[in-house]
Amino acid sequence: MMENKKALISIKNLKMYFPIKKGLFGRQVSYVKAVDDVSFEIMKGETLGLVGESGCGKTTTGRTIIKLYEPTSGEIIYDGVDIAKFTPNQMLPYRKKMQMIFQDPYASLNPRMTVADIIGEAIDIHKLMTGKERMERIHYLLNVVGLNSEHANRYPHEFSGGQRQRIGIARALAVQPEFIICDEPISALDVSIQAQVVNMLEDLQRDFGLTYLFIAHDLSMVKHISNRVGVMYLGKMVELAESNELYTKPLHPYTQALLSAIPIPDPDEAMSKKRIVLEGEIPSPIDPPPGCRFKGRCKYAKPICSEQDPVFKDVGGGHMVACHLY
Ligand code: SF4
Repeated sequence: MMENKKALISIKNLKMYFPIKKGLFGRQVSYVKAVDDVSFEIMKGETLGLVGESGCGKTTTGRTIIKLYEPTSGEIIYDGVDIAKFTPNQMLPYRKKMQMIFQDPYASLNPRMTVADIIGEAIDIHKLMTGKERMERIHYLLNVVGLNSEHANRYPHEFSGGQRQRIGIARALAVQPEFIICDEPISALDVSIQAQVVNMLEDLQRDFGLTYLFIAHDLSMVKHISNRVGVMYLGKMVELAESNELYTKPLHPYTQALLSAIPIPDPDEAMSKKRIVLEGEIPSPIDPPPGCRFKGRCKYAKPICSEQDPVFKDVGGGHMVACHLY
């Protein structure tokens, strides 16, 4: 549950464009608009789920917030301070507050480093502690994520996928962050392990007062953990609402289609449920034409949808949607 209603992070009109250079002299001709004018807030103690198909800009949004990319424009207000244009030096104190857990724990752990060195690296970079105190902290973190001190001197290849993700989580916790971007942290894990990792992330959030941005490619993965969920499509946020509201009253045709694709365990209920099959191709994010980006796949599209970008607006009780139907 959310501790209070104060925003830890406010994203305002965030744009992340990647230039494509073509021609003999690398003349810049166009942009991939990976994140295009996105605004939302993440409250202290909240988990905000961020969902969309591959290429929708959700991971780029996460990486831009944490400044792994330099934003093209817009504001990233962290606890009252706009860090969007901060230099690497100015970012140093924020690197400790903001951490990231990655999708593929194996690729994100250096195979030549022991678990102790992987977890201790961030402690060393931020000069938090040394010697016995540092080692005690590493052992403590291993216990916190359900491993034990004996694992400290082993290498990543000696662990299962679920255990490696636990090591990744211990590494993120090492510097006592406030905010963690969980970038598809369970997508690569067996279904039987996914619930364990989600439950552990919830326990850690409660115990350490953490705030999460939880990125996933389908709505079923974020349902359990998120207080609110945002849906992205081709660089735009198209809908954002409290989880229950979004799952029971989805407004945007794209959200409705994503929800209809979630498998239902009850066979009777599943029989009565109609799956919305999306037709048409996802358009290219390179210089997209004006109007709603979903128009080529939307059965409700009308002339205005090709002419004007729908405004992302509150249609009641904090339920935000960008669609000309509302
Ligand atoms: Fe469909 Fe138009 Fe709404 Fe886009 S704005 S989702 S095309 S109805």
